[in-house]
Amino acid sequence: MLEAQEPLPVCTFTGETRKMSETAPFTVSSFYRFVSEKRLMAAKCNECGTEILPPKPMCTNCFSTNLKWIELDGAGKLLSYTIIYVAPEQFQSMAPYTVGIVELQNGLRLPGMIRGVNPEDIKIGMKLKIGFETSTSLQWPAWTRYFFKPA
Ligand SMILES: [Zn+2]
Repeated sequence: MLEAQEPLPVCTFTGETRKMSETAPFTVSSFYRFVSEKRLMAAKCNECGTEILPPKPMCTNCFSTNLKWIELDGAGKLLSYTIIYVAPEQFQSMAPYTVGIVELQNGLRLPGMIRGVNPEDIKIGMKLKIGFETSTSLQWPAWTRYFFKPA
């Protein structure tokens, strides 16, 4: 598999290869590493077709470990939201900000920050699309974060 290919670029932070493999373990850690490549990925069961987000190493429906990665388009609608006034330390400069639960394709749900719309203009059911930002933090983990914005 990898032996025949060009060496992959190595992350200066971790020494790990930077390009995520489609055979990456089905974990939240892998999920965020895909996000750092501006890809929204979920796990899908090869046995029963259940899609799993955030990814888990075992199907939540049939408990199979026969899974694959699928890429989502990141479009969805807002199911619920809350406005955060008192934020954790690393997000204090952004407060107040809005965090919502977004329903993606096939009913998958993902929480995320909502940007680009005033809190008073946010409406349940509004169409949103995922966006990616490059973290400005030089501290590990310097993973890219995702957010949602009006579609
Ligand atoms: Zn399954």
